[in-house]
Amino acid sequence: MSRLDLDDYSIERPFDFALRATIGCGGIAREAFFPKSEESFVRLLEYLETEGKAYRVLGCLSNVLPADGVSKRAVICTKRMKDIREENGVYIEAGVTAGALLRYCRKVGLSGAEFLTGIPCTLGGALYMNAGVSGEYIADTVEFVKAYIDGKVERLSVAECGYSYKNSAFMQNGAVILGAKIKWKRTDTETVENRIAIYEKRRAHLPKGRSMGCVFKNPQGYVAGKLIEGAGLKDYRFGGARISKEHANFIINDGHATSEDIKNLIAVVKNAVFAQYKIVLQEEIRYLD
Ligand SMILES: Cc1cc2nc3c(=O)[nH]c(=O)nc-3n(C[C@H](O)[C@H](O)[C@H](O)COP(=O)(O)OP(=O)(O)OC[C@H]3O[C@@H](n4cnc5c(N)ncnc54)[C@H](O)[C@@H]3O)c2cc1C
Repeated sequence: MSRLDLDDYSIERPFDFALRATIGCGGIAREAFFPKSEESFVRLLEYLETEGKAYRVLGCLSNVLPADGVSKRAVICTKRMKDIREENGVYIEAGVTAGALLRYCRKVGLSGAEFLTGIPCTLGGALYMNAGVSGEYIADTVEFVKAYIDGKVERLSVAECGYSYKNSAFMQNGAVILGAKIKWKRTDTETVENRIAIYEKRRAHLPKGRSMGCVFKNPQGYVAGKLIEGAGLKDYRFGGARISKEHANFIINDGHATSEDIKNLIAVVKNAVFAQYKIVLQEEIRYLD
């Protein structure tokens, strides 16, 4: 670490995935870095790449299934990169959470991000996953994404981000998202608050407990949860993991699930849905090795 100023990072050794991931299971990584600014984030990426050290960038760990055991990769968690600045529009660092972003939008009267209400994400994770709900996706609001790609910092236009349903170019090109400029409309606090309240109400029925949100993407023309329900799997259990009774696309960790339990349950679901409907479900969640 001789070429890094350690004051620019918080470091956790070891990093316990079960404590950090919303699903509440998984093993450990030997170390995790929490850069405090975009500049220190880039210096860390350069350092790890020069040293040939494998790493993985994470936000709120809300859509990931970490493996049991010890990961060989260092974790870089963006959650301390929290800057939002007015730069001829609004520039937001990758680690800003949806909650912090919505507080900012409410305060300054910016409308367009309200669909992120209740999604436990950072901006970086949302941009990587193309997060959204009921036809509203983060891709539709992006002006540009700043990313570290092939050793350089670049501004990518929305077309270069290659967005489609729950998919982005970042999943293929390995780019690291540093921040983004987003197109939102100027309005007033009350309008933003009213819109947030609408989304809060819509989400009230979602299952409680430790989960990754929706496990599977909706196949074209179908709703994954309905297919899983139709295959008779509501409340089906494997070890400490179970299919939610309220929303069959959610897998809940009852408190003692291992990642292996969850992987096994995912395999049961895919087999049962294929046997019944001849449809192959695809995971939305990302597996971490
Ligand atoms: C209760 C619950 C409800 C949810 N509801 C919704 C919903 O309504 N809509 C929806 O779309 N999703 C939902 N999700 C899923 C999840 O919140 C989103 O996918 C979210 O965008 C993930 O953001 P994150 O910061 O947690 O990313 P993480 O889970 O930490 O990471 C997800 C992926 O993004 C990559 N990544 C993260 N940050 C960066 C970065 N800066 N640069 C490059 N790659 C990065 C990671 O490597 C990983 O592959 C829900 C999850 C839960 C637990």
